Amino acid sequence: MERFKLAVMMFGMCVLGFTVLAEADGLADLHYRFEAVDATATPLAPTGVIAVVLNNAGMDANARTAIAALGVDPNRVTSSLLAGTLLIDAADIGGPNARAQLATQILSIPGVDYVAPVSETQNGVKLALAPRVYVSRVSNQNSDALAPSIDLTTANGFEIESLRNRIAATPEISAVTSGWFQVSSIATRYVVPNEPASVTRYLDGTTATLPSETVWREMCGGTHGALSVDQLKTIANSHAQAARAIEEETTGGIAAVTPGLDLRFQILSSLPAGAAAAIAEVEAYLEAQFDDPVVINISLRFAPLGSGVLGSTGSSYLSTTYAAARDALQANMDITDTIQDFLPSTPTLPVRYNGNSETVTNENRVFVTRANYNSYIGTASGSTASMTFNTQFAWDYTPPSISPSTWDFQSVLVHEVGHALGFTSGADFRFNDLETLDLYRFQRSDGDGTNHNPDTLADFQTTPRMVDQNEPLPIDDVNSDLITVEYRMSDGNPRQASHFRDQSPAIGIMDPTIGSAQTFFPNFIRQSDGDMFDAIGWDYPSQNFCRQDAPIRNLTALPGSRYISFIPPDHIETIAIRVKLVSLLNPEGGLPAGSPDLSAFEGEVRWVGAPVESTDSDPQGTTLFAANTSCEPVCLDWIGYDVVHVYGGEIAPNSVYEVQAIRCSCDTSIEKDYSTATSLTTSHWGDITEPFLSEIATIQPDFSDISAIVAKFLEAPGAISKARTQLQPNVLKPEVPVDFKDISADVNAFLDGIYGYTGPCVCPSSVTCGVTSCAVDSDCGTGVCVDSFCTDACGRCTP
Ligand SMILES: [Zn+2]
Repeated sequence: MERFKLAVMMFGMCVLGFTVLAEADGLADLHYRFEAVDATATPLAPTGVIAVVLNNAGMDANARTAIAALGVDPNRVTSSLLAGTLLIDAADIGGPNARAQLATQILSIPGVDYVAPVSETQNGVKLALAPRVYVSRVSNQNSDALAPSIDLTTANGFEIESLRNRIAATPEISAVTSGWFQVSSIATRYVVPNEPASVTRYLDGTTATLPSETVWREMCGGTHGALSVDQLKTIANSHAQAARAIEEETTGGIAAVTPGLDLRFQILSSLPAGAAAAIAEVEAYLEAQFDDPVVINISLRFAPLGSGVLGSTGSSYLSTTYAAARDALQANMDITDTIQDFLPSTPTLPVRYNGNSETVTNENRVFVTRANYNSYIGTASGSTASMTFNTQFAWDYTPPSISPSTWDFQSVLVHEVGHALGFTSGADFRFNDLETLDLYRFQRSDGDGTNHNPDTLADFQTTPRMVDQNEPLPIDDVNSDLITVEYRMSDGNPRQASHFRDQSPAIGIMDPTIGSAQTFFPNFIRQSDGDMFDAIGWDYPSQNFCRQDAPIRNLTALPGSRYISFIPPDHIETIAIRVKLVSLLNPEGGLPAGSPDLSAFEGEVRWVGAPVESTDSDPQGTTLFAANTSCEPVCLDWIGYDVVHVYGGEIAPNSVYEVQAIRCSCDTSIEKDYSTATSLTTSHWGDITEPFLSEIATIQPDFSDISAIVAKFLEAPGAISKARTQLQPNVLKPEVPVDFKDISADVNAFLDGIYGYTGPCVCPSSVTCGVTSCAVDSDCGTGVCVDSFCTDACGRCTP
């Protein structure tokens, strides 16, 4: 049976379409479909069951009473495991006509949304005919014209003849009705036709006016189908209204980094606490990934959208010819690109739109998100994407630590921007049409004696692409194939085709699901994601090699008061790690009288010196990599250091630091060449174990802190790291075991709270190396004795 798909959507029914998958009664695989107009389609077997869909789950009891009043035995009425759906076993109630009559009576019961007969396919799949269908756009091969929105509303699923007639009277649909309409249970969309876009092509400077549309859908990762088309429409309209309202006062986003991609979030609403900083972080991160010198505007707001919904997002699309897309991809290749040169050189692209058939369509059209259009084809007027996030969703804005039962806003935002950048497939809702990403989409298996999956560049030039939803089986038999590498994709069921396959660990951030407490921070875009963005025309990875991943906060360790710790980031050449002294010895509630004032050093930068290996504890013999601060950048290959602990005169209690990495071939005077900053803090003076001062209103440090140092001194089993228990002197000595002087320092911290050390030293060091010989620190006045010569109080000297 040949099947066709349309951008056909149902009011209200989407919830049912998804949730039934988990149902455990006889209708485990109930789906909603819109029956074929074509009389040649295989008819469905009636089951005699009537599905009664309520417009509110709370109406259940009332509806049962009213149904009983119609003479239906209450024992025949069962609740579907779907909230808001009743099932009536009416198999022996006087045949189809009597059931249709009963359905009409039930329909008049207040709270009943509609009534539908349940049928069964040859494979035993239970289907309820969806009588209320909303067609927002019909696309077909021969025309770029947008069909008007068509609201096909009938009241009763039994009135299928009436429905057929209405479809037959709608040419935009009836033209493509030679099979089943499959109502996708996944890709609920609302499509807004846009003003045609004026474009100027990079390749030859030609201009054109192209059709444009914005596709709204729910954000990935929430309860699938939690938003109906109606609700999407409401959100889209509210979003547009909010955008108009603040159009006058728009600024250029929260942050902007140039050159390269300039991503601008236009904020349309008030933001929850923490959201603005998270958006700025994502913006800076994404801008650092891509070199394309384009401005991408994304309007963003927060609004209450109900439970189970992350939000809703609309991406603007243009369409162009396949040949224009290919030529532009080839003209736009960056130095890492090769595959684009092997796209079929023919005027059209061979595509299989039916995974169960060898039929090939010679496709001459490609849909391109507006942002993707900007990246490789040309400039285009109009807005790029819109995002409405749900204020009622449990967001966590501050990765890497994501609280249980909350979701990482930053990862979700990067993922959704990824769709806007063009990580989307025509398999999700288009009818025999594809998008740029689909130029690389092939069947994964080779099939029976055929060659569905290209193995060579020569294969890649001729093998038909495959863009179909949920076909062929088994599940997810589809790859994005760049020949040098291939990634398995979702096939549309149960996950949208615009994603990698749902698996653990995730292939990339374009995985279709994100769990609570899961994060892709800090390096959101993985190799897989980057490969595909690169293939669809983005200049990735950034050829500005001075961009570097950030040091990673060490989540497994609690903070101490004299060390800061981080995990060095991955890197491809030697890097230096800079420490900015943001705030020094600056506790909430003020310092005890007699404390030093280190604020003159705030804003200065130091560097992380070469880590030295020492033994953290005996008898365990754990290794500690500890590094003093340095006045000058120290270039190292940091791979293998695991966690690096930084100490020195600059590392004081109650302080805030930002660590950033930079590649050593880059200019340390250029701020944009640094990685994003990772913020690290030290604890209150001497407060090295829980509870911390910030957590509980007690005097800190307390006896638990002192006893932790005593335990370390005694090398007791389970004693905590030197990186927390060493407290003295101004420049720690990581190679020396914790001793009574550290205990004494904590006792003093407990008694008077006064941090008794001199803190940072000026750079470059005021002490000349090798001038004053020494045996012990006291030979050096305020300085310290290093390798038999005096240095300054931070252990440094100037040659
Ligand atoms: Zn997604």
